Amino acid sequence: MSTTNTSRSSTQSTPDNQWVLASNNKGKLAEFKRLFAEADLDVTIIPQGQLDIEDAVEDGLSFVENAIIKARHASRISGLPAIADDSGLCVPVLGNAPGIYSARYAGEHGNDGKNNAKLIADLQPIRDAQANEPIKGLFVCVLAMVRHADDPLPIIAQGLWQGEILESPLGDGGFGYDPLFWLPKLQASAASLSAADKNRISHRGQAIQQLLAQLPL
Ligand code: IMP
Repeated sequence: MSTTNTSRSSTQSTPDNQWVLASNNKGKLAEFKRLFAEADLDVTIIPQGQLDIEDAVEDGLSFVENAIIKARHASRISGLPAIADDSGLCVPVLGNAPGIYSARYAGEHGNDGKNNAKLIADLQPIRDAQANEPIKGLFVCVLAMVRHADDPLPIIAQGLWQGEILESPLGDGGFGYDPLFWLPKLQASAASLSAADKNRISHRGQAIQQLLAQLPL
């Protein structure tokens, strides 16, 4: 993702109007690039990789805890305000797994193929036992923004996106679990949607709208 700089002057959020985006996930960064461009903020968004900031240790037990950890980490190292996304897929019949461990469900961080294969395998006995009833899933995105590393009042936004988990992947777009996420009303998987259509309705699209509604800070 290249730096995003947009033009509206209504948001006087920081002295220099630069925020760090605390993620190194290429799929998320591509979606944020579009979402921030559409938001028309007077802010330059710098992905943390451009500042050589490594991923934080995510040792929280919830999406919101991990989002705050990531935002504080990026802000502490950069000295800039930071925004972080902690997101994942919750499957109620698996006790909401993979949940906060979505990126490393199969053990190797960010291996989408292995994560999806494990999800399919873990759900097979449940599918067999419940006579192929649809298995519900929920994409969750929590955004946390801190104005400085010790900010006692992070801005928090949360988006939820309901769907069903497919037995096998479908579609070439998106990232992560998108090929397994079926949207019955659209008769499409998340990976079959265009980037613009996904952003309009996804957990991340909803969360960013909520965050923007809380600005200026
Ligand atoms: P995080 O970087 O620790 O927040 O992990 C996010 C993980 O959740 C990703 O690596 C994906 O596996 C999954 N995930 C989050 N958002 C999406 C999405 O929009 N589509 C598909 N998978 C997602």
